[in-house]
Amino acid sequence: MRGRERAARLIVQKFGGTSVEDSPALERVAAIVSRALAERPVVIVSAMGHTTDRLVQALECAVVGDEAGGLERIARIRRDTFSVVEQFFGRDAQRVGSQVEPHFVELERMVRAVTALRLVPAASRDQFLSQGEFISSAIATAALVLYGMPAVLRDPREIVITDDRFGRARPDQPEIEKRARDQVTVLAEQGKIPVLGGFVGGTRSGQTTTLGRGGSDYSAALVAAAVGAAAVEIWTDVDGMMTADPQTVAGARVIERISSEEASELAYFGARVLHPLTLAPAIEKGIPVRVRNSRRPEVAGTEILPTAPPADGHPIRSIAFKKGITTVDIVTSRMLMASGFLRRLFDVFARHDTAVDMVATSEISVSVTVDDVTRLTEIRRELEEIASVEVASGRAIVCLVGQNLKFTPGVASRIFRAVEKVNVLMISQGASRRNFSFVIDEKDVEETVRRLHQEFFE
Ligand code: ADP
Ligand code: ASP
Ligand code: MG
Repeated sequence: MRGRERAARLIVQKFGGTSVEDSPALERVAAIVSRALAERPVVIVSAMGHTTDRLVQALECAVVGDEAGGLERIARIRRDTFSVVEQFFGRDAQRVGSQVEPHFVELERMVRAVTALRLVPAASRDQFLSQGEFISSAIATAALVLYGMPAVLRDPREIVITDDRFGRARPDQPEIEKRARDQVTVLAEQGKIPVLGGFVGGTRSGQTTTLGRGGSDYSAALVAAAVGAAAVEIWTDVDGMMTADPQTVAGARVIERISSEEASELAYFGARVLHPLTLAPAIEKGIPVRVRNSRRPEVAGTEILPTAPPADGHPIRSIAFKKGITTVDIVTSRMLMASGFLRRLFDVFARHDTAVDMVATSEISVSVTVDDVTRLTEIRRELEEIASVEVASGRAIVCLVGQNLKFTPGVASRIFRAVEKVNVLMISQGASRRNFSFVIDEKDVEETVRRLHQEFFE
């Protein structure tokens, strides 16, 4: 018992797709993990490179009956994977290759089955997509072993226990805690390095689930919370969380320190660098999260803290955007504010398990935005029983995040000056004081974000 108490805490190191995409990337992972040995690393990896996107495409081919197209996508993943294995493992390539081969056999089998059925049950979809992480985690384990580290592969389906909402499963944290004690902490205490694929979970009855696209970050936070880790490191392909997506804004700068609330809002409103749910489990346990660049480990990255000092001289910490947004305008002459109307309205969205991101009201209308449109037809049908409804897709939310935005005079006028040429469809000053968001047409989004960045940062 005393030994346990004295045992050092672990750290969780998560490596994203580009951080494990090829042989030099695997070498960098080995170097990063080996430098952290004293801190007892637990390693979580995403699927390599573009694997998950290609798996999604393979399924899209198969459901419309294009078996050749589906198999071709799998063949491409296989080619890339085996070329990395050959380059990295040399003499051992065949042995490592034979460990991942069964996953490709499974993928091909499933492409044929889906083609025959012209349909992918949600559970099968998760089973299919999870193969990317099974492949990468087997390779990452072998890579660490090749460099002399005692890495041991674990199955995330036996640790990250979730409900059966396939595609966006919700974790069962108490159960994850129990499993992680036996399968992660005990191993680490024996000096071993547990390695597991992110993104993937399992139900209590053993079905494979996934946590949603980008979900490996979430896996890292869940495992970190479960083992009471000292820190979570999110290793990715940029220097940290930045003042805007560097792919859109060339002059984007790294943010040294950011509060967890600001970081959550940025992630929620589209900053892909973190999965939106990542921070909650870590924050609840007071575990610091750091975002770092696996290509430049000498850079300190971004530290996400419970509270962070305001960015000096900048009312805005960062600008995020989310495309693929649909707006729903609900218009009624019947006493919008009459008690019960709004409740009825939101009840429709809630019953269809569809989150509403932004809301604006006028005397006779309510406008909301959604990004998940899978249930929109049913939602619309029900709303039309109480009001007239207009739906428009192809929109984007732009979101500026900073501390105490509400109390900083002049921010709104600077925002409007920067966007004066675009048609702003909806505006919301977040109740949190930390965000100011608005909706525009998707086609205007890049230019708008650049202008805003110029106004506030350049
Ligand atoms: P990983 O595979 O490591 O999880 P992702 O592609 O999911 O990496 O996330 C990293 C990417 O997030 C970056 O390449 C960058 O283009 C994008 N990104 C979007 N917004 C931001 C932001 N505010 N700061 C940093 N990166 C951002
Ligand atoms: N591989 C999964 C995806 O691409 C999960 C992740 O990378 O975080 O969505
Ligand atoms: Mg990611």
